[in-house]
Amino acid sequence: MKIKRAAKYGFCSGVRVADLTVKRFAKGGGRGAILGQVVHNERVVEEMARLGVRTVHAMDEVGDGVIVFSAHGVPPSFHARARERGLEILDTTCKFVYDIHRESQHAQQDGAHLVFIGDPNHREVVGYTHDLDPTTYHIVHTVEGARAVDWSRYPKITVFYQTTLNAEEYEDVVRVIEAANPNTSRADTICYATKENQDAARELAGDPEVRLVLVVGGKHSANTRHLHDICARSKPSYLVQGAEDIDPAWLAGVTCVGITAGASTPDYVIDEVERRLQALAPTPA
Ligand code: SF4
Repeated sequence: MKIKRAAKYGFCSGVRVADLTVKRFAKGGGRGAILGQVVHNERVVEEMARLGVRTVHAMDEVGDGVIVFSAHGVPPSFHARARERGLEILDTTCKFVYDIHRESQHAQQDGAHLVFIGDPNHREVVGYTHDLDPTTYHIVHTVEGARAVDWSRYPKITVFYQTTLNAEEYEDVVRVIEAANPNTSRADTICYATKENQDAARELAGDPEVRLVLVVGGKHSANTRHLHDICARSKPSYLVQGAEDIDPAWLAGVTCVGITAGASTPDYVIDEVERRLQALAPTPA
């Protein structure tokens, strides 16, 4: 049986750099706590804890030492709070996330009302909005939500996207705002990491040689489920959290399996899945 991986899958560059930075820090003897998960993946959280960098959900839980800010960033005020508490900061915020912090600040100084397309509870979006006056921005992610606001009352509007979204899928939402206020512009800060994984998954599932697709990732990970939906439109597809989830019955008569993975899936979990597939149905010599 042949195995093909998608051209792009798994960690985005920002999460990959953050993961490596924290591991290097821990392997060098560093000890501390990560505020929020590096990625939404329990295996990664456990691995970090084993290395001596546990995950906490509030700054008060850190104690002393080093606090790690993850790739999705934190509100600017958290830096000051950490320093006040005498904590050292290991900042792994992705440079694209910092671009949005900077651009949104400039847009606001320029008199624009800010719109963030995204999930209000996602840490990245909390990072952008936590320190702002609530009257100066909106967070929207549905057409209904966009229709519920009178956008014409703002002299100008700048739209930003949560980086873990595929901006194309929110076109309808942004069009509602643009139709209501012609003085609306979109910030040029889109990160294409999610779109690239989705496009590559679509291509993999559309490959005529591929008969079955395994999507590796957390069952609660929205972007993993989305990849599964994309693949299932073309081929039988299964979402697996790890090698142990593979049912050998799926492989009966299958000559080529495609593999892709959600943005929170570490490489070693994907490798385990591939090894398990090879063990169940070895590639012919
Ligand atoms: S999705 Fe893009 S912006 Fe967000 S952490 Fe990954 S690379 Fe950075």
